[in-house]
Amino acid sequence: MVAIDGIGMTSRRTRMRLIQRLREAGISDERVLGAMEQVPRHIFLDEALSHRAYEDTSLPIGHSQTLSQPYIVARMTEVMMSASPKRVLELGTGSGYQTTILANLCEEVFSVERIKPLQDKARERMHLLRLRNVMLRLADGPMGWPDRAPFDGIMVTAAPRTLPEELLGQLSDGGVMVAPVGEEQQMLVKVTRQGSRFHTENIEPVRFVPLLAGVVR
Ligand code: SAH
Repeated sequence: MVAIDGIGMTSRRTRMRLIQRLREAGISDERVLGAMEQVPRHIFLDEALSHRAYEDTSLPIGHSQTLSQPYIVARMTEVMMSASPKRVLELGTGSGYQTTILANLCEEVFSVERIKPLQDKARERMHLLRLRNVMLRLADGPMGWPDRAPFDGIMVTAAPRTLPEELLGQLSDGGVMVAPVGEEQQMLVKVTRQGSRFHTENIEPVRFVPLLAGVVR
């Protein structure tokens, strides 16, 4: 990946401050902190919002969707990286920021999005960053990506009402799925596959946009 940095040193410095805040908030996986220091978050936002890119807050990306708060991106990535996954599936490409973080840490990233204009923008940004290990698909995510399964990691970035069990079959042995689950009250859940058994752990309460049905062109 090449470092594209429209705001130059200012953005590098504010990004390092963000990394410091993430450390203080308890993020300790150096691989994750390194990737978040490397990837410019401001290019994943519309220009009018890009000056807020290094605040630890979620921000709108259009179509009533949001780019998750950096702490949550870091936390979910850290939880998934506990399995050191090589091939990962992401549901909800959105801006492509989380996808890019994953692409810096894993060999292959498969990412599904249901809103075409968001996918188009994400694709442009990843092209700009010259990422070559990401595959995007326009589809209704909960079916996953059966022809590319199994995945060592599955990350869901919009909240289904209940645990998306249909996805668990696409996890490889030892693989980890991380997903926000619920409606008003949501919990970030980690599911680890051990053979034919699935071990579920609650991580922390979260607030995500809902996982919705159907493709928007
Ligand atoms: N990972 C994103 C977060 C975007 S918000 C980022 O870093 O920017 C969640 C995304 O999930 C939205 O883009 C939304 O359109 C998408 N989404 C919601 N339901 C979906 C579904 N059923 N299939 C695929 N994508 C879905």
